[in-house]
Amino acid sequence: VTHHSGLPSESAIHSCSDPACGLRFPVAPGERFGGRCPRCGEHTFFVRPVLPQMLPPARPDLWAGASLQILLDNWRSMFNVGAVFRSADGAGIEMLHLCGITPTPVQPRLAKTALGAEQQVAWRYWADGEACARAMRGDSYELWVLEGGSESVSVFDCAPGLGSKIVLAAGHERSGVDPGIMDLASRVVHIPMIGSKGSLNVAVAVSVAVYWLRGQQAQKSSLG
Ligand SMILES: [Zn+2]
Repeated sequence: VTHHSGLPSESAIHSCSDPACGLRFPVAPGERFGGRCPRCGEHTFFVRPVLPQMLPPARPDLWAGASLQILLDNWRSMFNVGAVFRSADGAGIEMLHLCGITPTPVQPRLAKTALGAEQQVAWRYWADGEACARAMRGDSYELWVLEGGSESVSVFDCAPGLGSKIVLAAGHERSGVDPGIMDLASRVVHIPMIGSKGSLNVAVAVSVAVYWLRGQQAQKSSLG
């Protein structure tokens, strides 16, 4: 079992000495503001150390036999693409298909938001997202599209199970997914919303859907 320490060992919780402020905050090693309150500027005092926590061990075995890939069609935001790279790395996504105007790791600014995950996840660029969707279907993948509409069902009502092969496609932040890709979809899914906004940030939505699908694809007895 391999693990890495998640926090530097010398982190500490500090508190503002002014009771009217009362800010409680962590100071990481090398952070210079530890002596002064970042909220009001008063002196602070040491409360307690932060002990390093082990990250959960990597579990590459968890999804053996099932396959999940992601298709980003014409995403504009470098930040969103970087966020999906991090989620894809965490969820063991085999391939990120970057289509149309979607930024790729060739662009240096993407690395800043992906924090290195762009080097861990296999990716492929397609000028034409519909061609990608067609190719994946030809390779016996089910094409699932993350989108609203009358055909769309809650992703939480979907249980693809062991051995499934899925490409989850998500479209442009404002225009949605290309209708040519929609025509090829075997399923349209969405994240149910309680609040007033009607939708999540698209990178967050992809991440939630991907982890739900991964949970369904996993051997339940080995989730842990
Ligand atoms: Zn303060």
